[in-house]
Amino acid sequence: MSQLRFKVVEEAYDRKAVPVDIPNERPEQYYGKYVFNRAKMYQYLPKKTYDALVYAIDNKEPLSREVADSVAAGMKQWAIDNGARHYTHWFHPLTDGTAEKHDAFIEHDGKGGVVEEFTGKLLVQQEPDASSFPNGGIRNTFEARGYSAWDISSPAFILDKTLCIPTIFISYTGESLDYKTPLLRALNAVDKAATGVARYFDPSVKHVQSFLGWEQEYFLVDEALFSARPDLVMTGRTLMGHESAKNQQLEDHYFGAIPSRVEAFMLDLEIECHRLGIPARTRHNEVAPNQFELAPIFEETNLANDHNLLLMSLMSEVARRHNFRVLLHEKPFAGINGSGKHNNWSLGTDTGVLLFAPGKTPQGNLQFITFVANVMAAVHKHNGLLKASIASATNAHRLGANEAPPAIISVFAGSQLADIFARLESSTQDELIAFSDKQGVSVGASQIPEILIDNTDRNRTSPFAFTGNRFEFRAVGSSANCASAMIALNAAVADQLTIFKENVDKRINDGEPLNHAILEEVRKLIIESKPIHFDGNGYSDEWKEEAERRGLDCETSVPKIFDAYLRNESIEMFARTGVFSEVELHARNEVKWEMYTKKVQIEARVLGDLAINHVIPVATRYQSFLVDNLVKIKSLFDADKSNLIVAQDLSTIEKISKHMLVIKDTVEAMVDARRQANRIKSEREKAIAYHDNVVPCMETIRYHIDKLELMVDNEIWPLPKYRELLFIR
Ligand code: ADP
Ligand code: MG
Repeated sequence: MSQLRFKVVEEAYDRKAVPVDIPNERPEQYYGKYVFNRAKMYQYLPKKTYDALVYAIDNKEPLSREVADSVAAGMKQWAIDNGARHYTHWFHPLTDGTAEKHDAFIEHDGKGGVVEEFTGKLLVQQEPDASSFPNGGIRNTFEARGYSAWDISSPAFILDKTLCIPTIFISYTGESLDYKTPLLRALNAVDKAATGVARYFDPSVKHVQSFLGWEQEYFLVDEALFSARPDLVMTGRTLMGHESAKNQQLEDHYFGAIPSRVEAFMLDLEIECHRLGIPARTRHNEVAPNQFELAPIFEETNLANDHNLLLMSLMSEVARRHNFRVLLHEKPFAGINGSGKHNNWSLGTDTGVLLFAPGKTPQGNLQFITFVANVMAAVHKHNGLLKASIASATNAHRLGANEAPPAIISVFAGSQLADIFARLESSTQDELIAFSDKQGVSVGASQIPEILIDNTDRNRTSPFAFTGNRFEFRAVGSSANCASAMIALNAAVADQLTIFKENVDKRINDGEPLNHAILEEVRKLIIESKPIHFDGNGYSDEWKEEAERRGLDCETSVPKIFDAYLRNESIEMFARTGVFSEVELHARNEVKWEMYTKKVQIEARVLGDLAINHVIPVATRYQSFLVDNLVKIKSLFDADKSNLIVAQDLSTIEKISKHMLVIKDTVEAMVDARRQANRIKSEREKAIAYHDNVVPCMETIRYHIDKLELMVDNEIWPLPKYRELLFIR
């Protein structure tokens, strides 16, 4: 068995960087080559069609059948000119990743041959057989069909000679079966609500966009080593493995020189990204060995999310070209950092103003404080929901572990913002009135006109941090679809802004001056949302106790964290913003619980197999070697001499026996716990049983396997060790 381990280690050691096929042109020339962007539309569509399509995109209006036909014809021509043979509706089901079903462009020509055709009907809507996608019972209750419909706000692209058309995926009765539908709804809601508030400050504002800049963390592992680890292959993480003597203590990997094999991979990936219009810009080593990050320039949220999903599939593909496997799991290795996907998020007007950036004028700064205070209030009210939006079986290994934000949502504001909050909170009525009457005069909130937020004021322990002109939602997991977090956040903020506007309007109707009305409401928000504001060390134990006292959601069990979606305040908020109906919320939670159960179930099976088939036999072999040795020593030496050696060996043999015994017993207990959990009908209760009864068995089994790894002869240990997985590249 160990033969295999040494073979793959050798293979990995010998591997050289794969040369990258670098285009002769500069990125400016090939950027967006495979995207049907406005330039391509202009080139391939009749002027009238182009105008109608751009109008529909900009005004979020549906296309007429005629225009759709004309767009389809142009799009097909462009796709064929770029070597495409197939097309697919590309959507985001409630599983991980994306779904696609390819169709060739061909139709019968009536003469025994074919013509390549693509109609508006095929472009705009399809009825994929959706029966095997998770739907939480929606389709069973109503209709078995699912529809995918073109999202014109995200451009079509060509991937592997296939024209991909970004679509939403809904049931016959209109319930969303995907991530994109509710995301678009949430983005519309925040547009409407934020525009209403932004107009207090600039009546010419027509739209507010939500922006997302994700930072994708990932690990790379040599493919030979990867293949020799069934746990990595099946579950994306190592279910066992003792820490290596050196890991990240020296912090020598972060921002260190990028190894040549990895650099080749990154360059190749960037070129692919740029061809597909993904504005990849930043790349660097992360904290853990073999951990890296890629970040693009931020974009409108829906597009940014499509790009992240596309990136994740590109990464896997390009990694294989370089004989790597990319690990997007949140915690592939115990004892070192896991991977997240920071979601940098902001709102901006169509007049070009970022609403979380301090302005240059008193009015601009009042606007800034207004929006920031509303975000604080929204995050405070819905902190449990926001946690639920990033919770998953895989992210659970990262949250609350030492490098990641804890399983409590709080907002880091930074000293300057905190100072402004404190002053606004305590300023007198007169000061506020004076401020609102004489804009810019130094009273009460006098520092507002001068705000220049220091970008270096960072706190890496906060799950939700203000970082100068945006908020950074850091608790998002590396394998997650960002839409989940973006739906909850944008919807919660939309709802909060709507309530805020109602309150301000009421005051204005009662005769209060505008600025005064706004400041009073802002002050109320700052006071109410104080418990969510925490600038201290989020990793400390004191914070957990403090957060509990402040009434923040401190639940750590993922299946129970999901309950937040079904609390009244969430159901009502999602109904008011039109993002989710109650039916959808219930259905989606069923899916979440089911996914949780399945993930743990698969891991438990793999671990059980590895324990019984890989580890126990090897430990037994080593043990019997020790026993042989012991017998020989006894026969060779007289008792006096042999006693010491015998005692030592006996103790090792005994330890090995104990570990093996615990492993065998716990595997049995785990199988039993699974059997019992599987009998439970309710998906929620089943997931809880898996969490409460199966996961702890896995932890025990792992602990004892890792102990054995240190004791058993290195020569016969079957699986590549952490020091091999993490330090060979
Ligand atoms: P850091 O690691 O220091 O947080 P990075 O440069 O790695 O920063 O990533 C920052 C991300 O935030 C980038 O994707 C960037 O485009 C994005 N970003 C910058 N400003 C905004 C903004 N106003 N709204 C949304 N995202 C933003
Ligand atoms: Mg960051």
